[in-house]
Amino acid sequence: MRLLLLLSALVAGTIAVKTFVGHQVLRIKASNDDQIKELQALEGLTHLELDFWTEPANIDNPVDVRVPFHSLQSVKSYLEFNNIEYSIMINDLQTVIDSEKQEMETDNIKERNSATFNYATYHTLDNLFKGLDAIVLDFKSLVTKQQIGTSTEGRPLYVLKFSTGASRPAIWIDAGIHSREWITQATALWVGYKLATDYGKDASITSLLNKFDVYLLVVTNPDGYVYSHTADRMWRKTRAPNSGSRCIGVDPNRNWNAGFGGPGASSDPCSDSYRGPSAESAVEVKNIANFIRSHGKIKGFVSIHSYSQLLLFPYGYKCTNPAHYTELNTVGRSAAAALSSLYGTQYKVGTICSTIYQASGGSIDWTYDIGIKYSFAFELRDTGRYGFLLPATQILPTAQETYLGLKKIMEHVRDNPY
Ligand SMILES: [Zn+2]
Repeated sequence: MRLLLLLSALVAGTIAVKTFVGHQVLRIKASNDDQIKELQALEGLTHLELDFWTEPANIDNPVDVRVPFHSLQSVKSYLEFNNIEYSIMINDLQTVIDSEKQEMETDNIKERNSATFNYATYHTLDNLFKGLDAIVLDFKSLVTKQQIGTSTEGRPLYVLKFSTGASRPAIWIDAGIHSREWITQATALWVGYKLATDYGKDASITSLLNKFDVYLLVVTNPDGYVYSHTADRMWRKTRAPNSGSRCIGVDPNRNWNAGFGGPGASSDPCSDSYRGPSAESAVEVKNIANFIRSHGKIKGFVSIHSYSQLLLFPYGYKCTNPAHYTELNTVGRSAAAALSSLYGTQYKVGTICSTIYQASGGSIDWTYDIGIKYSFAFELRDTGRYGFLLPATQILPTAQETYLGLKKIMEHVRDNPY
């Protein structure tokens, strides 16, 4: 029976898989505000089915757009007509997706322990969960697995809890709220392994975990993650049905109760940045928010996204600086410097609004507004060469450098009690 179910799932999965043959990702460089407006107008033309990997907001940041084959000619003509500069970043997206799939580990990994687990490949959800279990099994006295809720489709939201004593204040780290950002889940899993191995060996991590608990949610949006493996590699949202619409999913990082419904989020269920009908309507968001509220002593909150190489702090839903701007900016800069010390990877640091664009309903704005002063979001590698399809060869370097940045933030939380 199980085999039959598996076979039918495979067949169904094969039929439903979305392909990206002939899709190109264009890198567009607007040179003035009029061109930004023209790009925003382009975004509004839904029949083109464009997927904006980065948003047209200001002339400092290039705009990366996935263009389906059927829209290529119209889009290129539009850009040329408006004298907007562009280049082809990815010539055929399906080729990149195919090679990513080929690189994925397919062998049976259930025998692996945390030290022999292959962190340098992208994993299915099941294999990522085996990775979590391996860490828990190998570091029993430090790490436990806790289910903080369930996704729309019934998948568990597992956090790893790193703890050496009761009733401690804590730091929260999550990844993969946007499912297609695969480098984030992979990075978070390795970070979990690294934290576990560093305790008792690295003086700084040891002192941190002697004062603070760390909660690590590796797969915040498990339904979307599975869907990005089985049906649509470019899936970003949750998989919740929307009443009155044929379109599926809410953007879980537009669904927090922080400026909910404001600029930089869509009210259209078919949009990739659909905010949902109300704040915390996404069960994944609700579960995390409930956990944070009931814990009551979360002192640092870090959410990991990709891509663009940014280290961001509030606000996104408004463009005024937070009360702790100077301190957050200083911490952010020192974290970015630590990150860069390993491989020279350059990050920009700043508020969401000033660095990328105004976006409402984001997690770190909510955590900041409820009193979690140290609220940050990472946008990991790269700056667009591969975008969401970062080659697996970059997983470990990305994880290692990110860990150094995270460590700086956590040390600051540890040393600045409030
Ligand atoms: Zn994201």
